[in-house]
Order: sequence, then structure tokens, then C-alpha cells
Amino acid sequence: MSITVVKFGGTSMADAKAIRQVAEIIKQDKKRRYVVVSAPGKRFSQDHKVTDMLYACYHDIQINGECKNTFGKIRERFKGIVDDLAIELDIDSYLDVVEKEMYKFNSAEFCASRGEYLSAVIIAKVLGYTFVDAKDIMLFTENGEFDAERTNELVASTLANIQTAVVPGFYGGDESGIVHTFSRGGSDVSGAVIARAVGASLYENWTDVNGFMSADPRIVDEPKPIAKLSYKELRELAYMGANVLHPESIFPVRVSNIPINIRNTFCPSADGTMIVSELNEQELSERVITGIAGKKGYSIVYIEKSMMNSELGFVRKVLAVLEYYNISFEHLPTGIDTMSIIIPDSELAGKEEVVIERIKKVVAPDHIEIKSGISLIATVGHGMSYKPGSASTLIGALAKEKINIRMIDQGSSEMNIIVGIATSDYERAIRAIYKAFQN
Ligand code: ASP
Repeated sequence: MSITVVKFGGTSMADAKAIRQVAEIIKQDKKRRYVVVSAPGKRFSQDHKVTDMLYACYHDIQINGECKNTFGKIRERFKGIVDDLAIELDIDSYLDVVEKEMYKFNSAEFCASRGEYLSAVIIAKVLGYTFVDAKDIMLFTENGEFDAERTNELVASTLANIQTAVVPGFYGGDESGIVHTFSRGGSDVSGAVIARAVGASLYENWTDVNGFMSADPRIVDEPKPIAKLSYKELRELAYMGANVLHPESIFPVRVSNIPINIRNTFCPSADGTMIVSELNEQELSERVITGIAGKKGYSIVYIEKSMMNSELGFVRKVLAVLEYYNISFEHLPTGIDTMSIIIPDSELAGKEEVVIERIKKVVAPDHIEIKSGISLIATVGHGMSYKPGSASTLIGALAKEKINIRMIDQGSSEMNIIVGIATSDYERAIRAIYKAFQN
């Protein structure tokens, strides 16, 4: 029988009621044999995620030498869940060990990982599935880099002998048993890694929304849900801020073409969004764009110099300056005499002056300036490479709204047009682009 790997996010693990619902979903389908979970997330908007509280514990230990108060809240949270579930689990003993080890290992990653660990212990008990510690099967190097190939073999051989298992998401361990974590939201990646290793035919990622929307519902009224999208489209949208799924989740499943299905724990009847390796001809012809996503907080380093494009090594010299100051950039549209480098503010902050001075020195531009307050909007869809005129629809929509385009870049795959606009125009621009492609 084929295997489905299921991953449940923080809201799905937030309290006993949600966890019962999770158990119900898993039991409905015998193919759902391997379960990956996040730490308990928020129960209501002002609530705290357990992972955030665990980072706070680490911080408390560094500053005050102890974290009694914050850990007390975490203890209450887990005890409450176990009491409400009425399962026979001595959660106090687990919490005692966790608390002690947090002092012993004294690492932010170890502390942060304990939410997933305890969450998995609880759901394994509820389901009667085997608990398999991620520390033993998700391998990291001592430098904290994830070792995908060795992990793949180890997970495959370990789980081959276990019919049903729960594995905590977000972390793993190195050869000396030190715990390392993925970046935030990384349980999505853990689920994908396990799906690949067990040869799953489906990776279900259960969250608290009905899948991807074609635009941010806080900006566009009732945007269309996306029933299906490709791995590539997902990468572009997720990277640009559509944060339903960790953008790195597709790498493991892409190797074996395993589709990812985003589902809603609190509305299991909805089909959600299916993410597949490729869309078929009909699907491609049905829509021009798949979705719009965007991010605020960018600056443009704008450089002008006559005959720039015939000056050998010009771009390399400019980029070497950024490398020297450890600044990574995101886009680099160039013209004959101009180039723009789009850089997140978080990368450039505090280094503006030195960067300008250095670039002046190495390439002697006719003009150089930094334009800040920029937002990027990505309009994504394979359909665009099939339909001539998509760029003009987009540009026309912005022109009609009198929104000035400060930068435009069409990804080489022709499935992504990125525009840079003033942040004050951000919401209006998204609405205008969305509307233009609805007809
Ligand atoms: N709990 C971790 C976080 O809040 C990882 C995850 O939920 O995927 O980032």
C-alpha cells in the first residue's frame, strides 16, 4: 500500500481539542503512517508559540542564569494539554529532563527543539505510534548543515522496520549527539525529508488555512484559492512572502516527484492546494498567472556610467564590494549604461555610506545613489510564458493607477515578473495587478 507522510503545524498542535482533531484525521486513512509535528503554536492571536517561549528560556539563562518563570509557563502549557487529553503520560518527568538538559547543553537550538520533541511524545501516545527521535535520524554536520543524503538513507532504513511512527519536526542531531535546527518553520522541511526517504506517494502538510491563495487576503478581497501549482511556482511565491509552506520544503520531494498537498486541519473537507512537479497543457492554458506575492523593506543601489556594458569586469567589481561587506542582494537588472542592485534593508542597514564610497572608488560611476522604501511584488505563473502581453497587462495596470515602477525584472524562466515600487504604493499595486489578470 502506498504511504502518505503527514505533517501538522503549530496551530494543529496548540491544544487538546486540536490534537484530537489531528488524531481523527490520521486515523481516517491507513496510508497516513508517518507523522511529523511542530511545537504547539498560538491558540489565539495574543498567545505565544511554545518555540518562541523556548528561545526566551535560552535568553533568560544567558542573562539571569535561570529560566524558571518562562519554563514554568511552558510546563503549564504541556501539562494542560496532557490533562485535557486524559492520556497516561508522565509529562512531568519529561519536562524535568528537558529543563535540566536546557541548562546542560546551553544552546539556543537545543532549547528551541524541545517544543517539537514534547509535541511528538504526546501525539505518539495519543495515536499509539512509535516515537522516533529526530536527533537520531535527521543528520546535521557539526557546522549545523543538514546532511540530506546520509539522512535519506538512515531514515529509510530506520522507518522500514516501523509500521507507524511520529517524528518531531524542525531539528536533528550531529554525530556527537548535538541538536541542530532548521530555520524557523522548518518542520515543513522535516516532513518533506521523511516523505522522500520512505518513498511516500503523497506529502500532506496540514495547517490552519485552506491552502495557497492567489494573493494576500489581507490586501485583496476574497482572492481565488490556488487548487494546483508547480514546485517552481511555489518556490517563487513562498520566497516572496506567501508563507504557507517553508520555501525549502520542495527540495527533498522534488527528487522523487512526490506531490505536496496543503490541507486545513480545521476544515478537512477542503481539498486544499496540490503542489506538483509540472502542470499539464490544459492547466497551463487555463490561467495566465497563478499568484501574486510581495515583500516590503528593500533598497535599490542605482549606478549609472556611460558605456558601462562594454567595460570588462564592471559588474564583477561592484558585486565584489557587496561580497566584501557581506551583503547579499536579490536582483540585478542592468541596462547599457545603468544597473540597479536590489538589496533587502536588513542586509544593507548601517553599511550604506561605506558601500557607496567603495563602489565610487572601484568603478568611478557617473552617478550612484541609494533609493530606499522599496517593495517588491512578484507576479508568478507558468501561464505567462505562453501568453504574449502578460508584461504589458501588468505594467498597464500599474500605469493606470499612476504607480511608478522603480525596477522590473523578468525571471529567466519567464514565469515570474518582479516589480519594485515605492512601499507607499504596495497594497494598491497588488490590488491593481490582481484585478488586471482576473479578466
Ligand atoms: N516550531 C518551529 C517554529 O516555530 C518550527 C515549525 O513549526 O516548523 O519555527
